[in-house]
Formats: sequence, structure tokens, C-alpha cells
Amino acid sequence: MILQQQDLGAEYYSLGREEILDRISRRKQELADNLLILCHHYQQQDLFQFADLTGDSLKLAKEAAAISDREFIVFCGVHFMAESADILAGPGQKVLLPHLHAGCPMADMATVGAVSQAYKELLAVGIMANEKDMVPVTYVNSSAAIKAFVGEREGSVCTSSNGENVLQWALNKGEKVFFFPDEHLGRNSAAALGVPDEQVLLWRRGELLGGNTVQELKKARILLWDGYCEVHMRFLPDHVRQWRLKEPEIKIIAHPECPRDVVSIADLYGSTETIISAVKDSASGSKWAIATEVNLVERLKRDHPDKEIHLLAPSSCQCTTMDCNQPVNLLWLLDNLARGEVKNRIVVDPETAKLAVKSLEQMLAI
Ligand code: SF4
Repeated sequence: MILQQQDLGAEYYSLGREEILDRISRRKQELADNLLILCHHYQQQDLFQFADLTGDSLKLAKEAAAISDREFIVFCGVHFMAESADILAGPGQKVLLPHLHAGCPMADMATVGAVSQAYKELLAVGIMANEKDMVPVTYVNSSAAIKAFVGEREGSVCTSSNGENVLQWALNKGEKVFFFPDEHLGRNSAAALGVPDEQVLLWRRGELLGGNTVQELKKARILLWDGYCEVHMRFLPDHVRQWRLKEPEIKIIAHPECPRDVVSIADLYGSTETIISAVKDSASGSKWAIATEVNLVERLKRDHPDKEIHLLAPSSCQCTTMDCNQPVNLLWLLDNLARGEVKNRIVVDPETAKLAVKSLEQMLAI
């Protein structure tokens, strides 16, 4: 979802880096009692240094809600993360995004309109007699509206750490599972559960019945929406092979948003928190090639100078939409707050929030 970001004006664009960082620091101190700055692992270091809390999207949203005396939650992340924070926030808390163009292209690949149309087509050809036959699961990297769609149909959210558990729950609950929006997390989770490839079918957006025959759909147990993260798609099996030839003792670790052919030959795979722990807990002198966003990999390098850490791919793999949040945008947001003006607030309407919470609660119950 692209929202319109206000022009900051020449006063801001002419500022140098040091001055911006210095002014953010002073504003942060001034607003401290009422402000909480959250930073996702994929944000650049110049923002990360101002974070009160760091982590992945759901951890941040839950922790921020627990600090209920801070009215303003500035989420240095992308739009769906700010939505999750707003859904879980207390009654008086307001969630702000430094730049309104900071979205997640993968989350935007599954819209309620397109997903509802897919359900209609499946009902029309008798793949499901009613909607209860299909258990929807959505990755937390999805809009609040998709989480609400899933909550309304008694499905569940999942994260990159619990994709397998949630998928197993969904397979036990219904005849078939529809997994949104990330094909690769769905495929990697299905493979880890031992679901045969022929029972896992890709639903291609924009094609009638997702480009599948009725026969194929009848046989399938899991339908995967064809969304993807363009950052994690840049890692290739050849990158794994090249590192192994160059450094035979290197460990390869991949995020499950990477394609199956990369994850299947990595030594380990897991969420950002799993990657951080694996590197932290490894022996001094360990060598790692990591398939995830470059800002996290660079931070791991800085935090563990006794280990040899590389990005798996030779070119930079950066979440360019999250990078719309620049320090100058944070400064502008805080300057406005200091004047009593609330900019870039992300609000989820109460009905959507109520249904989205159902899908989040279902995940916690699993
Ligand atoms: S890294 Fe990929 S999934 Fe994560 S916010 Fe960026 S585009 Fe979305």
C-alpha cells in the first residue's frame, strides 16, 4: 500500500548527517517520557542506534503494547509492522511511521480483493463445499485486512519461526490450507513437515483458478499464494556452492523467505532471531555466509568481530522500501511531535483490528 508522504521541505533536505543525528538525539531526550522508538533488524544503523526496542515485527509490536505509558510509538519498519503495533497497542497509544512509502511489496501481493476472488473460484468449481474446508494461514508479513480475512475464517497468522507448527495445525484442522502471501515460507514449511511436493500447489495471481486444473486442485493439500520477498529472492544455490568451494568449513544459514533450492542446501535456516542466536552462540573464529537482508548481516559483522561473517550473495540485498525511512524522516517526525503535531499515524479500523486479533490469538494458542 502506497500512502502519500508529505514533502519535508528544503530546511530538512539541506541538513548534513551529523546535524540530523545530533538533533534526533536531542529531540529523543526531550520527548523521552512519551516516546518509544522501535527498530526492525533490517533498518540502517543510523536509525537503529536510536531504538528503545529492536527485534522482528511481532516481538516489537507486543513489547511496545506492554509499555503502555508511552503515547507515541515510532516504528522504524514497514507499513504492515506499524499496523500490527496499532492493533496490539493500548487505547491511548499512537503508532507513527517515519516515511509513508515504507511498505512491504510482498505484503502488498495479497490483497483482500484478489484473495476473495480466489475463494469464489474454488467454491464455484467445488474444490470446497464451504469456506470451512479451506484453512487460511497468513504470514505476519501481510496487511491487517488479510489478517482480518484469515481471522474471520478461523485461520491463523504465522511467523518465520513457527511456520511449520502453524501449518501442521492447519493441516490437522481442515481438508486444505491456503497459505498467504509468501510462497517460499509456505513451501519451506511444507517440506519440513514432509508434505509431498505434488500436494503443494502454487496459486498464480491473475490466472483463473491460479493457473491450475480442477484435478490438480482436488489433489492438493496446500495452496501457496505466489507472493515473494524480492530481497530474499536474490540468494541463489550457486552462491551456496561458491562459498563451499572457497571456504569448505563455512556454515550457510538462510532465512525461510529464500527459495526452497537455497534453503534445502543450507546448513541451517530460520527467522532473523534464529540467525542472530546461531551466530552469537557459535565459537570464536566461526565462519558464516548469511542469506538475509544486508543491514542485519552488517550489524552481525560489527557485533562479532571475532567471527568471519559474509552476505551469501555477492551483491547487496537491501530492503529498499524499509530504507525509505531515513534519519531525516525520523527527525521531521519528532520535530512535529515536539510542536504537538502528529504526522504519519497508522490506524487500523476497529472492525478489521478485531478480526485480525483473532488470527494473531489463534497463533498464540497454537
Ligand atoms: S525484507 Fe522482504 S518481506 Fe521484509 S519488509 Fe522488506 S520486502 Fe517485505
